[in-house]
Amino acid sequence: MILLKGDENLEIVKNVHLIEKKGVHASNAYLICEDDPILVDTCMPGDEKWILDGISELGLKPGDISTIVATHFHIDHTGGLFELKERTNAKVVVHPDDMGFVSGKMDFPFLLRVVAMPYGFKHVQADAVCENDMIGNFIVIHTPGHTPGSISLYNSDKKIIIVGDVLRSPDRKIKGPSRLFTMDKKQAKESVKKISQLDFEVILAGHGEPIKSNGVKMLRDFSHRK
Ligand SMILES: [Zn+2]
Ligand SMILES: [Zn+2]
Repeated sequence: MILLKGDENLEIVKNVHLIEKKGVHASNAYLICEDDPILVDTCMPGDEKWILDGISELGLKPGDISTIVATHFHIDHTGGLFELKERTNAKVVVHPDDMGFVSGKMDFPFLLRVVAMPYGFKHVQADAVCENDMIGNFIVIHTPGHTPGSISLYNSDKKIIIVGDVLRSPDRKIKGPSRLFTMDKKQAKESVKKISQLDFEVILAGHGEPIKSNGVKMLRDFSHRK
């Protein structure tokens, strides 16, 4: 079952859906239902169950998912990756600078190791996506800082950007990433500046509610205040 907050509709803009669950570690997964459906982020280990429910409620079979994108390696975005890769047979993509953490070649930073330990995170072999690569109709933008390989996905026609943890949007207000879990705060600010040069209305963050209009204006205001 998919739990929705308040009046939230699953479809945020045409063919872009939020799959969301409430809870302590609540993070968002997004499903882009184009010709080759794309899943963006997979929440915590165990969350693959309701993500699969969400996929089927949208009329898709697991095998219809062509690509699973991890916006960054953190366990609240990659937790369901192993199981969902198995169930969907989709290609899993991640930026090269986070690849080692996802594949297990590099250890998680200490704090994340402690957080991840009880969940038994399973590593996954992934393919690389880099700046300016296309995933469906979305272009990859490298937005490092929160993690070295954090990426955002941007579609200029739909005027939408999916940012992972580059930003948070609690109650539709823009906030920076969690300071505790952000590896390079200066670089994270630069990445916010970088995406604020683009043109978009909609911001979909890894945590919080969708910002459905005025996204770039809100982001520039936020950026100037910092
Ligand atoms: Zn994160
Ligand atoms: Zn997160």
